[in-house]
Amino acid sequence: MVKLVDTQVLGTCVERRGGSSPSWPTNLRIVMKVKNPIVDAVSVTRNTDMAKYISDEGVRHALEFMTDPRKKKRLENCECKTCFYFRSGRIGGAAMTSANCGACNKDIMYSSTNVDQVCKPCGIKHELCVRCGGDVHMRPRRIFKPDA
Ligand SMILES: [Zn+2]
Ligand SMILES: [Zn+2]
Repeated sequence: MVKLVDTQVLGTCVERRGGSSPSWPTNLRIVMKVKNPIVDAVSVTRNTDMAKYISDEGVRHALEFMTDPRKKKRLENCECKTCFYFRSGRIGGAAMTSANCGACNKDIMYSSTNVDQVCKPCGIKHELCVRCGGDVHMRPRRIFKPDA
């Protein structure tokens, strides 16, 4: 969708940042331009394959989420069903990254920028998913005592 941005809005933003009002005419509209690739037989086949792949993956993840076939491995990893089955592929920059554990505040070193929310000892101790920091069994919990 192409969205037109009114300069009135831009002017307000500039004012909020403490800058001066734009000097261009008030009837100017900014239009974002997107260059789509040419559609041909190859692209239709490729895009259909991609759409099928995405839905197949979604269905597979949903079935696994429902049946939890790798529960033992999942709990060894200290991950909830959502993180284990839906976020199986980690996407992150390949840079050594240090992050504190959200529970004990200890610094943990990771091999990518995709870091966990809590360290594994805290995940085990508090029954938390290390990746998202939620309950590893996805139970509703209102009480969390870090020193318990
Ligand atoms: Zn910790
Ligand atoms: Zn999780």
